[in-house]
Amino acid sequence: MIDFQSILGAIAAEAKSKKDKGVVATYIPELARVDKNKFGISLLDNKGNLYNAGDAAEQFSIQSIAKVLSLSMAFRILGDNLWNRVGVEPSGDPFNHLSLLEMEKGVPRNPLINAGAIVVADVLISQFKNPKSEFLHYVRSIANDPSINYDQKVALSEKKTGFRNYAAANLIKSYNNLHNDIEEVLDFYFHMCSLTLSCRQLVNVFYMFVNRGKCLQNHTYLDINQVKRINAIMLTSGFYDEAGEFAFEVGLPGKSGVGGGIVALLPNDFCVATWSPGLNKKGNSKLGMQALEKLTTRTGLSIF
Ligand code: GLU
Repeated sequence: MIDFQSILGAIAAEAKSKKDKGVVATYIPELARVDKNKFGISLLDNKGNLYNAGDAAEQFSIQSIAKVLSLSMAFRILGDNLWNRVGVEPSGDPFNHLSLLEMEKGVPRNPLINAGAIVVADVLISQFKNPKSEFLHYVRSIANDPSINYDQKVALSEKKTGFRNYAAANLIKSYNNLHNDIEEVLDFYFHMCSLTLSCRQLVNVFYMFVNRGKCLQNHTYLDINQVKRINAIMLTSGFYDEAGEFAFEVGLPGKSGVGGGIVALLPNDFCVATWSPGLNKKGNSKLGMQALEKLTTRTGLSIF
């Protein structure tokens, strides 16, 4: 049996002692203020055992990690029709890159770049009267945790600085691939990005992608084929223009956010989340990536 607790403990101690911790995101003050010395890691295995080390219980802004959750919610409702609105090819571009090449006729390359997640937000708005509360309810029920919430300050700051997201939304709208009001779509998108969770809560929410679509309480949210597709999108598009490097170093599907969080998983086996606010040049958590490389190398567990 693998001793996950000692492996996580060692990884957290090594991370805490590292000098070069990367650079925290500064585009909004709420992220710029976060202490770079934080490091947390949680792992939930397929028997429901939870292992934690470092600042695993501290909440942070999950940012783009939320894009996987909104994607799963839209896929559940629309099924394969969703792929008429958004593609599944990696973009190899930074998260906020904006170019016509990222879209063909207003169809963004994948649901995990900003343009794609904005289309997914639009899809959900068309389905619900109150999409913000429906989405929150969805995440809370998957995790069986009513304490999960948006951070209104982060959402407001995102809105004030989201010029490229406005530009992307306008571009998509010009191709008729946004059906709702741009302000409403972006308000929902910025709220999604502002979700605040800890590593412990993140592994709980993402457990359904390990467990064939079933959450820890054994409720089914996705079927096995939907899980296959979302995990494939995480592997190919979950790390901005560093998805190849992440597959090479770590070997797991996953998703990162500019708040310094990363969640990754081995289907049928375990889900792991790390948080270290300092980012590398590509916008992925520097120590988080190093920690996950150590985890899969020391345990010998990866999809490869
Ligand atoms: N809220 C960020 C944006 O849309 C997402 C950043 C990220 O984690 O990639 O600019």
